[in-house]
Amino acid sequence: MKLYSTNNKENIVDLKEAVLKGLPEDNGLYMPVSIPKLPDDFFKNIEQYSFQEIATNICENLFGNYIPKDALDEIIKNAVNFPAPIVSLNQQTHILELFHGPSLAFKDFGARFMAQLMSYFNRGNDKELVILVATSGDTGGAVAAGFYKTPGIKVVILYPSGKVSHLQEKQLTTLGHNISALEVNGTFDDCQALVKKAFLDNELNQNIRFSSANSINIARLIPQSFYYVEAWKQLKNKDNVVFIVPSGNFGNLTAGLLAYKMGLPVDHFIAATNANDVVPSYLKTGIYQTRPSVRTLSNAMDVGAPSNFVRMLDLYGKDWHQMKAKISGYSYNDVETEASVREVFSHYNYTIDPHGAVGYLAFKDYLVENPDAQGVILETAHPSKFKPDMERILNGNIHVPERLAILKDQKKEATLLDVNYEDFKSWLLSNY
Ligand SMILES: *Cc1c(COP(=O)(O)O)cnc(C)c1O
Repeated sequence: MKLYSTNNKENIVDLKEAVLKGLPEDNGLYMPVSIPKLPDDFFKNIEQYSFQEIATNICENLFGNYIPKDALDEIIKNAVNFPAPIVSLNQQTHILELFHGPSLAFKDFGARFMAQLMSYFNRGNDKELVILVATSGDTGGAVAAGFYKTPGIKVVILYPSGKVSHLQEKQLTTLGHNISALEVNGTFDDCQALVKKAFLDNELNQNIRFSSANSINIARLIPQSFYYVEAWKQLKNKDNVVFIVPSGNFGNLTAGLLAYKMGLPVDHFIAATNANDVVPSYLKTGIYQTRPSVRTLSNAMDVGAPSNFVRMLDLYGKDWHQMKAKISGYSYNDVETEASVREVFSHYNYTIDPHGAVGYLAFKDYLVENPDAQGVILETAHPSKFKPDMERILNGNIHVPERLAILKDQKKEATLLDVNYEDFKSWLLSNY
């Protein structure tokens, strides 16, 4: 499988290089040179396929025979090992629950698949791969869980001391095995600066094979297309299907566009955002203006310069008219979002998290002009991840799933680190 950089279509690499490198040197993003359509029969007979078989078909369609069948089966078996069920609120409104993985958010799909691919590509190499990640909270949890016990790979997570939630910290610091946590006496930006410096350090690179678990790695995007097809499979009525995607960096929406390119019969996509609305504004006006992000209730979408927007532009040949024919944008403030959480609970007795609640509002508005649409709202995280806000909004108890609740009693293990590059470097050299 070949990929090009969005900044230079002549800059072509194969999948292994794209996955291990993450980003091209020219600062573009990798995109598949070809996104073939899946056979019509595949969609016609979709009910016969399991979620894992859907994933395998999509990969074979994209990868060709780049990864042998038995290795691919093993990758899928390990990566796609939790479901993506649909819960229907009514005949037209469906919730796609993407939070059944270890860190309770859709990012588990991307992290697990990336871990499996990296491990596969590193096979036969006598040197282990060391993944460095700086996290402000959420990504670290998905990466830690995704890479846990993956052969040939060690993960080092840097997080700002006292600046991630208690449960997030536990997700980073209690796994052990191949996952190490460094608690940095500084900010997220300090963590990121330490990681960046290490990647560029010649002496370190002579001793350690580094890789990053970057959120724009193509290996995180590909598996996110699996659940669009899995969702469509579960719909009884497959007419006028619209996917509503609560968005921040727009990786999730881009993965939906990939599924559409592969032939998934999707009528329309909806980009739903909070006050950070640069993409909905672009869709309305044709003007793309990034801005500093503002803090909101749906904070995983607080992004002012969405990294995957260049991939969306690339898919539409930078043509605004074409893009807006297929994607509509809506944005909502926190007051509206809270009211949405309450409405979904009182009308349907369903607890939706603040990110999904933004999607619910967007679908309601879309329905006004498209009354026959079948909406699939991506529920990107479990509501218990936002327990204090949710309990305040709904004025009641939010149930925490067992896999998160047990973390409370597990022992935190982290190495304290000051914001000092030499300390970080010697820690790396003595541990790897
Ligand atoms: C990351 C995240 C998003 C945003 O997804 P993008 O792919 O960056 O658009 C939305 N909701 C939740 C809960 C997230 O963690």
